[in-house]
Amino acid sequence: MSTETTPLSSTPRTTLRRHRERGQTDRAALYEVLDAGLICHLGVVADGTPIVLPTAYGRAGDTLYLHGSSANGAFGAAGGQRICVTVTHMDGLVAARSVFSHSVNYRSAVIFGTATVVEDEDERREALRLITDHLIPGRWAAARQPTKKEMAATAVLSVPLTEASVKIRTGMPADEPEDYDLDVWAGVLPISVRFGSPEPDPKMSEEIPVPAHIRDLVE
Ligand SMILES: Cc1cc2nc3c(=O)[nH]c(=O)nc-3n(C[C@H](O)[C@H](O)[C@H](O)COP(=O)(O)OP(=O)(O)OC[C@H]3O[C@@H](n4cnc5c(N)ncnc54)[C@H](O)[C@@H]3O)c2cc1C
Repeated sequence: MSTETTPLSSTPRTTLRRHRERGQTDRAALYEVLDAGLICHLGVVADGTPIVLPTAYGRAGDTLYLHGSSANGAFGAAGGQRICVTVTHMDGLVAARSVFSHSVNYRSAVIFGTATVVEDEDERREALRLITDHLIPGRWAAARQPTKKEMAATAVLSVPLTEASVKIRTGMPADEPEDYDLDVWAGVLPISVRFGSPEPDPKMSEEIPVPAHIRDLVE
């Protein structure tokens, strides 16, 4: 059953104990954090050892897709296993009057679930399109399509967005009342992710213009 319209679950694992007021119950908040992110971190126990891998991802409704080399040991180990995926946005450095109260403004999501190896070829292809277009919207259609050999070399995992939490911190430092009189600068240093000017591959013909889907990202 689709969970797309249901509120975010509150399971024993996803219930925030610290700073509960920063928790989000609206599922749209989860989608916003995921759709605005570029990479996620996949946590899995492989051969008895926890490993956290940065990786690209894509989303279709309430399913998250991850891809990796079929030869990637930790990625391969995730199939059928309980995993945890996080996506983090750093929105600002929060400089407080006391060292203790320093913080970060952020939006982050934590997803728990069992990863499934996607076998259906149409779903695998669509997942790869989603992952490609998540990073550069419109790129899948503009680039050469994967060959059978490339498809075989790529493993795709799906993770249901059923059990997830979203935590968001905004605003100024929360100093102790007595610290507000200190002569220490306090405030927020905002952080934003921006793309720079496209750098053409020197091996490419100079006659190929920067396509609209690349210009769109920069602008
Ligand atoms: C960029 C960044 C930097 C941070 N730096 C620190 C730091 O230096 N020290 C520190 O203590 N904390 C830091 N945090 C907050 C940290 O992620 C945890 O929220 C916090 O440590 C509480 O952990 P806990 O296990 O006690 O939370 P609990 O509230 O006990 O966690 C219970 C459940 O709440 C959910 N949850 C907890 N944290 C998050 C989260 N960030 N996003 C989404 N869901 C969450 C999970 O589902 C988790 O299983 C940082 C967060 C971000 C995004």
